Amino acid sequence: MAGVGTALPLTKLLASVTAPKDLKSRPFHRFTLGDLELTTVTDGYVHMDKVQPIFAPGVPRKEVDDLLKKNFRPTDHVDLGINMLVVRKQDKLILIDTGVGAAYGKNSGWLLQSLADAGIQPEAINAVVISHGHPDHIGGLVKEDGQLNFPNATVYLSRIEHDFWMAPTQDFSKSTFEDKALLHTFALGTQKVFRTVKPQLQLFEDGLTLFDCIRLEIAPGHTPGHTITHIYSGGQEMVHIADLIHSDVLLFPHPEWGFNGDTDLKLAAATRKKVLQRLADNGAAIFAYHLPWPGIGHARKQGNGFEWVAETYAYPV
Ligand SMILES: [Zn+2]
Repeated sequence: MAGVGTALPLTKLLASVTAPKDLKSRPFHRFTLGDLELTTVTDGYVHMDKVQPIFAPGVPRKEVDDLLKKNFRPTDHVDLGINMLVVRKQDKLILIDTGVGAAYGKNSGWLLQSLADAGIQPEAINAVVISHGHPDHIGGLVKEDGQLNFPNATVYLSRIEHDFWMAPTQDFSKSTFEDKALLHTFALGTQKVFRTVKPQLQLFEDGLTLFDCIRLEIAPGHTPGHTITHIYSGGQEMVHIADLIHSDVLLFPHPEWGFNGDTDLKLAAATRKKVLQRLADNGAAIFAYHLPWPGIGHARKQGNGFEWVAETYAYPV
């Protein structure tokens, strides 16, 4: 009979307690665009336990359910992806948005672990582009103890966005989100993060270019300074559309149906339509922060609206 001390090697015992399911290596997707190397990693996902009124507020339920069923999607919930993009140009590493951080629990906030799995150290990030001031985009800038996650990065933020959130009050009257008090609580959280990263902040105006491979464009509506990021090299372009759109099957065919996370629902719908039209016309590749992993595809005109044509891959890479 084996003695207790020899039944299970210590290393095996440690492995069994230090490698829970949550810490397994997460997949990443790496590809090139001209001379650039792009890497997509995941920050996790946001579970929404209903579809309406988060999506398509005010639209008859049957119309929404019919479209979901036609696309083999559940009618009782939506899981939003949180896709993160890192652009490498020679010795420059640019991260676009930073995910949720610790705010939303264990289903998200995976960015640092995901970057490590993709071989990217946070200290090596030179620039962080912030698309807008919502918690699921800025939450990963700062650790819970207030330390910076990307200490060597300049953080680029639109001046309009910065001034909106840092004002004493924000105008949420054009949002359909019911709980206005919660929106004001978000604002306090955003102000805290912006104050913490102030030494790193570089405020920009519409059209700023960076490293001869990135152009920042204000696409307002979701928030006043909401920014989409054009990434270009060697005649190729990919557009990181951030929170222009949160559902492939609902809002491509009906950009006007709207999303109640939009600060100005009507302006967001108009901008969504305008940008999708442009992307459908020029055929640029799209990177979508909240669409199903890895969030890469194209927009195509379809009837009076559009459709999302997701990129497919022959094998995991
Ligand atoms: Zn978002």
